[in-house]
Amino acid sequence: MHVVRILPGCGGSLAGGSTLLKTASRHTGTSFARSQFVRLFSQNATPKDATAVVVGAGPAGIAVVGNLLEQIKGDGKIVWVDEQFQGGRINRCYREVPGNTAVKLFVDYAEALRPFQHILNTAHKPNAITALEKLPQSGTCSLSYAGDMLNFFTTGLRQHPRIQTVQAKADSAHLDLQTKTWTLTTTSTPASVTAPLVVYCTGSFPSTVPLPPSSPPTIPLDTALTPSILSTTIPQDQPYTIGVIGGSHSAILVLMNLYTLASTTHPLLRIKWFTRHPTLRYAVEKDGYIQYDNTGLKGRAAEFGRTQLDGEVLDSSEAGKFITRIDCSGGKEREWGFPVPEVRIGDGKEVVRLGKDARTGRFYVEGEMGEQIGLFGAGIAFPEEVDTPEGEREYAVGMWKFMKFLKRVVPGWVEGSRV
Ligand SMILES: Cc1cc2nc3c(=O)[nH]c(=O)nc-3n(C[C@H](O)[C@H](O)[C@H](O)COP(=O)(O)OP(=O)(O)OC[C@H]3O[C@@H](n4cnc5c(N)ncnc54)[C@H](O)[C@@H]3O)c2cc1C
Repeated sequence: MHVVRILPGCGGSLAGGSTLLKTASRHTGTSFARSQFVRLFSQNATPKDATAVVVGAGPAGIAVVGNLLEQIKGDGKIVWVDEQFQGGRINRCYREVPGNTAVKLFVDYAEALRPFQHILNTAHKPNAITALEKLPQSGTCSLSYAGDMLNFFTTGLRQHPRIQTVQAKADSAHLDLQTKTWTLTTTSTPASVTAPLVVYCTGSFPSTVPLPPSSPPTIPLDTALTPSILSTTIPQDQPYTIGVIGGSHSAILVLMNLYTLASTTHPLLRIKWFTRHPTLRYAVEKDGYIQYDNTGLKGRAAEFGRTQLDGEVLDSSEAGKFITRIDCSGGKEREWGFPVPEVRIGDGKEVVRLGKDARTGRFYVEGEMGEQIGLFGAGIAFPEEVDTPEGEREYAVGMWKFMKFLKRVVPGWVEGSRV
């Protein structure tokens, strides 16, 4: 069998052989953890460059910038850092992926803030938002629509007089515990910017697992989620087997894309599906709320799972002619990491660990939870923790969920950070 594993980054092609896909994502919070937050003992505090710095221009970063503009009074500057300013992974990597949330939630995101409404009111029509408004609001849509909306607001926000963008990578953040001012170092020139409030919206990317040296090459997850590229990556005229690891949203979408190829243009393609869960979990409407809203399958992935893959359905389904399930239950408990960044103080030898309050988005020095240090996180890397009616805890991931969370917590961030 050929195997593929996922590699970070969008697109890319498979160099011969075939593939094993692992579809869990890893938070970029890992690199954040490597950053060291060093206490600066500055005697003469310099004037701050900005009232706030936001790192990341995906759906969460865009929503944070809009919320800060709405909440920070006066003419304080907001510095916004991203390497690309291309709407994050939704726009850069997933434009061919079917969305898993109702169109209306993208429209709600677009209308949620006064700065967004201002951009909307002054924009030419038709535009990305009018395109969304024309779609059936309770249905789902291709993420290209959401990607266009994110580009639309990125362009609008970048023209705002209080926003200064820095197209660069943020390397580290250092905290002066006396003045509670952060110095963020980037790859741009000048290399640093200071502010009392910093928000990390650094997103996630597909994780990789080491495979034995003799393993076949891997197909990046983002390629497997892009049918137009995937179809040219797999040979049509020879037997070819691809392994897919995982049983959640991305894995089901990849299986759907591979099944479509096997049943049309690539009849010699076969798929081995390695999963710890022979039965699937769906988001279900129940007594006025959605059970498994954050962890269950939705939209086209749910439909494909129910009709083609779930439990014994696979034994007699059309997809079952091409897909073989390998039961891997009992494996590793956790595939996602939530690393915590560190703070160094004094001579830098003493390490102060940071905790994260997933209910408020605040980072805090461990043992001093009440103290706000002006560092916050949002988006898929640092999602809100919520309780379900069944008493379970989930992380709320999705563009509208990021927005709802930020509308609730950003006023407190601003108030507590003296900006
Ligand atoms: C396959 C898939 C389908 C999804 N479908 C939906 C859907 O239908 N509906 C929905 O609401 N949600 C969906 N989501 C969930 C969620 O909305 C997306 O994961 C979204 O991309 C998360 O946004 P983000 O801003 O947190 O991160 P990202 O989109 O990953 O953006 C992070 C940004 O930070 C920048 N960055 C990172 N590190 C640095 C650094 N050190 N310096 C400077 N810049 C940096 C990156 O360049 C990037 O622009 C989906 C997710 C996946 C994986």
